[in-house]
Amino acid sequence: MSNPKSVRVRFAPSPTGPFHIGSARTALYNYLAARSLGGTFILRIDDTDLARSSKESLENILESMTWLGLHWDEGPGKEGEFGPYFQSERSAGYKERAHRLVELGHAYPCFCTAEEISEGRERMQEEIGVPMYDRRCRDISAQEASKRQAEGEGHTLRFKIPFGRKVQVKDTIKGNVEINLEQIDDWVMLRNDGSPLYNLCSTLDDIDMKITHVIRGEEHFVNAVKQILLFEALGEEAPAFVHLPLILGKNGKKLSKRMAQTNILDYKEQGYPPEALVNFFTLLGWSFDGETEIFSVEDAVSRFRLENLGRSGSIFDEEKMAWMCGMYIRNKTVADLLAAVTPFVLEDGRVTAEQIDAARPWFENLVACFQERIKTYSELPPKLRAFVEESVEYDPKARKNLVKKPDTKALLATYLQRLEGQNLPPSWPLRPAEADTALSLPSKTGPSKTGPSDASGPFATPMEIEADARSFAEEQGIGFGQLVHPIRAALTGTNAGPGLFDIVYLLGAKTCKLRIEAAISFLAHE
Ligand code: GLU
Repeated sequence: MSNPKSVRVRFAPSPTGPFHIGSARTALYNYLAARSLGGTFILRIDDTDLARSSKESLENILESMTWLGLHWDEGPGKEGEFGPYFQSERSAGYKERAHRLVELGHAYPCFCTAEEISEGRERMQEEIGVPMYDRRCRDISAQEASKRQAEGEGHTLRFKIPFGRKVQVKDTIKGNVEINLEQIDDWVMLRNDGSPLYNLCSTLDDIDMKITHVIRGEEHFVNAVKQILLFEALGEEAPAFVHLPLILGKNGKKLSKRMAQTNILDYKEQGYPPEALVNFFTLLGWSFDGETEIFSVEDAVSRFRLENLGRSGSIFDEEKMAWMCGMYIRNKTVADLLAAVTPFVLEDGRVTAEQIDAARPWFENLVACFQERIKTYSELPPKLRAFVEESVEYDPKARKNLVKKPDTKALLATYLQRLEGQNLPPSWPLRPAEADTALSLPSKTGPSKTGPSDASGPFATPMEIEADARSFAEEQGIGFGQLVHPIRAALTGTNAGPGLFDIVYLLGAKTCKLRIEAAISFLAHE
């Protein structure tokens, strides 16, 4: 028995626009196929269309793939024995073989002008209902063609679609599809200026790079027909084709332009965890076990089979993507989460890397407080501001909570006295490390939920502060809410967020005092 061919797949983007959701899924399925089959994942840059290709777009592709962790084995920056991996650097081979196809009788020069072509198309539209090239140069004799070429007459080279037969596309997802060739155009391989076109370059590269599986979007299915004929004409075996169904919007219709064209790096900028996106994109056409939704890329690799890809369009549900991001954020260790959000916090400009380093336990506690409340990293910095800035501004709801009852001002003053009797930890940045490490590092939802009850630090714990606040409210003859709402507003400027006594604990003595005093003075001027 001969050895099975080693699997080689390629993702072949044209650097003519941003790397979007569709690109990510195609790249990902190529990656999963290669990894699950012990094969090689190649990144080939289809940049024959130099006018439309750009360096920015190339960089965007490379950065997006790297960010998503879709590392290629051969391609830009990873030279292998089948390079170069830019089509623009492979052009000599394309031309030469296009001419050989003419000699072999599989292609012919076409001398038609643009007007002749469009006139022919109109005629074909009328005659057979398809606006295709009317093949008028196909029957020009070899002799005459050579003469006209020798005289310098401009021409393209067209592939000669064989008459009177069908082609079978063996597609792993669609099955075997028979295609009638009558309505397939004699497509152009080389332009008048000698530049090669996509179907020629792609097929020749797939041959030269020993590609075994072509995995790409459904929109390329019709190209498979043309490419299979070219493989045949060159006496080569065609690779397996895997055309991925369309990605649809939640309404089951075409994905909106906004979504379809979203640049993947926008997600990076907005702080989406890349592992979550990879997980989510993996489900756009494949199922782990029909049930499990959260899995690592390694787990996906261990179960991935091209044969199990779905046939119908996959639904892109933005809300589900956000939910999944939230799940990934929850499942992180607090230290990892702090590391992931740090670039966003630094960009916000309120604290420095040194300050984070110097008060790591405190920052970890803060991050832990918000861990279940964010779906992207960029949501965190605005929430942290209340902890690191000198004062807060009241949002409309917080303001309402402060001014609702006329006796709030007096209540705040009395409670402040009471709070000062509690041994609150010092405020950041003068906070001693034990103030935060004494809290058995926290529940993911903030210190008080797992409860620091057994913590034996010098400072009052969130639970103790809360117990005292409850007694205080009782002594004052007011409901707990009547105390908690204005205090939260005074301390954070908002009416929502983590547990209030976690906040009190994390803000510490001085900041709590300043904020409550600021609220009292605000109320004095109302
Ligand atoms: N350059 C083509 C594209 O970006 C590649 C298609 C293929 O994979 O053959 O759509």
